[in-house]
Amino acid sequence: MSTNTKTTEPNAGDNLLMPRALTAENGGKHLMIGEFQEVVKLECTACDGDDEDCEVCSGHGTFTYRVPVGWDTIKEIYQRAADHFGVDPSALLAELSEQAQPAEPSGEEKLEALKNDAHAKLTDAEQAWHAYACECDIGPARVRAFDTYENIRVASRR
Ligand SMILES: [Zn+2]
Repeated sequence: MSTNTKTTEPNAGDNLLMPRALTAENGGKHLMIGEFQEVVKLECTACDGDDEDCEVCSGHGTFTYRVPVGWDTIKEIYQRAADHFGVDPSALLAELSEQAQPAEPSGEEKLEALKNDAHAKLTDAEQAWHAYACECDIGPARVRAFDTYENIRVASRR
């Protein structure tokens, strides 16, 4: 029943969130009831249209009668529009959050990430130099490797 066919892209301000139905509870009934009339032209049945003293038509032969649009009809008209154009706001919000791009990290978060990365790589280097130094034969290479390892280890403690 609800088709939701939109033929043109909406502009800002073209769309509104409105209740699904007019009810007494949401104030829609009070707002709309009795507000609309149909003007109906009727033939006078009290005279032949030639009696200027006719209380109904004053001799015009016809008279207009204002017919209030019934509450049920007002509700049906509103319902038809709501079924066709209405969008469930929760579905709309879900769609919008899917489209939302992840927020750019702030400068503070970026700095923290770089600091953590730098610390992690220094720890990696410390472990790598330690592993290498331990495998070196006794001699100058081993001494230099342990010196380097020690420098890294001390640097990371600052
Ligand atoms: Zn009349």
